[in-house]
Amino acid sequence: MSATTTVILGGGFGGISAANSLRRLLTAEHEIVVIDESSRFHVGAGKTWIMLGERTYDQISQLRVALLAPGIRFVEAKVQNIGLSNRTVSLESGSLNWDFLVIALGADLNPARVPGLAEAAHTFYTVEGAQRLKVMLERFSGGDVAILIPRVPFKCPPAPYEAALLLHHAFESRGLAGKARLAIYTAEGAPMATAGPEMGQYIKGELAQRAIAFFPQRSASRVDGTAQRVVFEDGSEARYDLLIAIPPHEAPKVVRDSQFTNQSGWIPVDPQTLQVKQPPDAREVYAVGDVTIVPLPGRYKPEIGLSLPKAGVFAEAHGRIVAHQIAAGILGRTPDEAFDGKGYCYLETGAKRAVKADGSFFELPHPVMQKRTPDEAQFRDKLDWVERLLRPTR
Ligand SMILES: Cc1cc2nc3c(=O)[nH]c(=O)nc-3n(C[C@H](O)[C@H](O)[C@H](O)COP(=O)(O)OP(=O)(O)OC[C@H]3O[C@@H](n4cnc5c(N)ncnc54)[C@H](O)[C@@H]3O)c2cc1C
Repeated sequence: MSATTTVILGGGFGGISAANSLRRLLTAEHEIVVIDESSRFHVGAGKTWIMLGERTYDQISQLRVALLAPGIRFVEAKVQNIGLSNRTVSLESGSLNWDFLVIALGADLNPARVPGLAEAAHTFYTVEGAQRLKVMLERFSGGDVAILIPRVPFKCPPAPYEAALLLHHAFESRGLAGKARLAIYTAEGAPMATAGPEMGQYIKGELAQRAIAFFPQRSASRVDGTAQRVVFEDGSEARYDLLIAIPPHEAPKVVRDSQFTNQSGWIPVDPQTLQVKQPPDAREVYAVGDVTIVPLPGRYKPEIGLSLPKAGVFAEAHGRIVAHQIAAGILGRTPDEAFDGKGYCYLETGAKRAVKADGSFFELPHPVMQKRTPDEAQFRDKLDWVERLLRPTR
């Protein structure tokens, strides 16, 4: 095929991985462009460290251009429209044409979907939120801390539980043992439901050991910031002194306005190739990472379908696969790689210990998740993983 242009929307985990992998597979006449509205990439897993005052934003972030391999063009701009029939992407400064398109725009947070939440709750799910929460926590002298997960799906399913364990450790270290009481209220049936009942039991056990209360199947209908209480759809209520929420997630507006999403609000993709499923003529369009919905073949209960969790490791793996798919299309070959549903996550348990869990999500009759016992070596593994993500390629 003559010279092509692949445009990658979003320079996060998925976009960077797709761009760098594709650059390795194609010669220089094939152009690769990455568009992102901000110049810096940051590792989501570092936000709990910001919340606890252990790292700064600079220490968990890197310039995107430094992470992109030579020969990849980076454009700092907001994507305003994705055109399929004319194969263009609109930016404020003009438009770009594409032959292949990768949508890697991640998930936006929209606290307004729960009335009162934006005004009343802190969050560590954004960098600015984690920075503000750090200041609050430094002043906090005790009381009821509610961690609220009002809606699913949300990125990194272990993160709220990890935050609870880390906060518990921080409160003990700061002399607040017994004075600060932690509780988790979640719309989920169990922690990390897609990872299976054993993982859920394990996390519940870790919470119970620390007297962190756990309330599943609580979908929040509103937050009354004046009375400091969360009201749930089943009529029950929770009082708090400090509210920390995981804001509801949704696809970015430019994606919701496109033809690629289905009733879930996310982009359905082929689980192996990450090609978008709709509309049918979008054959050169792929989507990766948090912006997608990837149905899983297996299920624990016949009536409950599962989808792949939203996590950076999956976005990164998706990016590699998409690069192979696109390169094969350009070079007239059969793609030699397909997504296998495998990934891992680290759950920090406090005191510089972590547990790594390996998941195989395309298994039948249900996903398989294997974990070890928390230790310092797995915590160091996590630090190495973060360091690798931030290491410049040029
Ligand atoms: C507290 C926390 C802890 C986490 N811990 C882990 C962990 O331990 N392991 C793990 O694997 N994952 C973890 N994650 C999840 C991980 O960060 C995300 O799943 C990952 O970032 C998704 O990658 P992505 O490429 O799909 O999207 P992102 O990395 O979010 O990238 C999307 C990019 O698109 C850009 N963008 C969006 N809209 C536009 C637009 N209109 N125009 C231009 N640019 C736009 C954004 O600026 C962003 O850079 C964690 C997340 C949080 C919040």
